[in-house]
Amino acid sequence: MLRETHLKIDLKKLEHNVNEIRKFIDDDVLLGAVIKANAYGHGAIKVAEQLYKLGVNRLLVSTLSEAVELKMDNSNYNVMIMGHTPDRFLEYILKHDIICTIFTVEQAKLLNNLAAQNSKKATIHLKIETGFNRLGMQIHKGTLAEIKKIYNMEHLIVEGAFTHLTLKNKESDFLQESKFATLMELLEANDIHIPIKHIVDSIGMVLYPQMHLSMVRVGALLYGLQSEEKGVLDVQQILSFHTKLSHQKVLQPGETISYGNRFVCETATRIGTLPFGYADGYPRNMYQKGEVTIGNKRYPIIGVICMDQCMIDLGDDTYTDEDVIIIGDGRHNTVSVEELAKKAETNKNDIVSRFTGRVPRVYI
Ligand SMILES: *Cc1c(COP(=O)(O)O)cnc(C)c1O
Repeated sequence: MLRETHLKIDLKKLEHNVNEIRKFIDDDVLLGAVIKANAYGHGAIKVAEQLYKLGVNRLLVSTLSEAVELKMDNSNYNVMIMGHTPDRFLEYILKHDIICTIFTVEQAKLLNNLAAQNSKKATIHLKIETGFNRLGMQIHKGTLAEIKKIYNMEHLIVEGAFTHLTLKNKESDFLQESKFATLMELLEANDIHIPIKHIVDSIGMVLYPQMHLSMVRVGALLYGLQSEEKGVLDVQQILSFHTKLSHQKVLQPGETISYGNRFVCETATRIGTLPFGYADGYPRNMYQKGEVTIGNKRYPIIGVICMDQCMIDLGDDTYTDEDVIIIGDGRHNTVSVEELAKKAETNKNDIVSRFTGRVPRVYI
């Protein structure tokens, strides 16, 4: 590690969170761990390694590039892509034995042909559209026939079928679930047996135990990021963000700080410079709202946040080598991901998935 600014990732807490999730779902429900977006900023390679040891059933990502990176690290991983894979990259699905999502007969044909040429079978999940209107097969009169075609393709294994909730409200979520369930019943009645059916993400899992079906797709909760109003699990935030002061000085009344001289000191002000900025993933709009914690005490960020640095008002305090906590778990007067997300007017997943490659991840 060649930088003071770093993320600390507590793998023991990850284990704790996995156990909490396991306790919440029935024994026969598979745990699909969502580690897209570099495991929500926590570092997909290390997080996958730990989750594999903990025996989660699937590692779920969004893109082929994420899936290939994981399979290159450990070909034993059971990796599934939940997003779309462009036709011209389908060969990588076969090469690395990745489970992929299919929602058109045309793409199923292409993958089936490619698998036949390679004397392989490709495992797929069908994405069903029930109202999110992002990806998925639309449900209409011809859907059964389409799925039958795919199901009968010799070199495809239709392992799963899934949909995704919009989480608007209970009524709308149950409508989506019933559309999905009705289609699944129709398939069963037509001798189409798809073993792994799944609907819920973290929030859906907590809200609707009756929708766990054969697998849950859990991201946020793994990392201890729980929707306060919708959460009941005892999960813990596993990430914290740290740095150290790079410079301290006293400015006189009228002196200014950072771009545009936007912050003007009214009195003599002791400022500290911190070596992190928006290029590390810290929201730039935290200007005049951000705070960091040193020894249980909060200090406001003053002046425009730069790409690589920002300044805080140290009041009367001086420090030498103290740990500066930019994001903590909320205890000891630290700013939690939750608090930062609220102040930055976004959600917690957005905050953590922004952390860039420049920030070293330290695993404990
Ligand atoms: C990202 C994602 C999830 C996980 O969502 P969380 O809210 O983080 O649990 C589940 N399913 C799909 C299809 C996703 O894209």
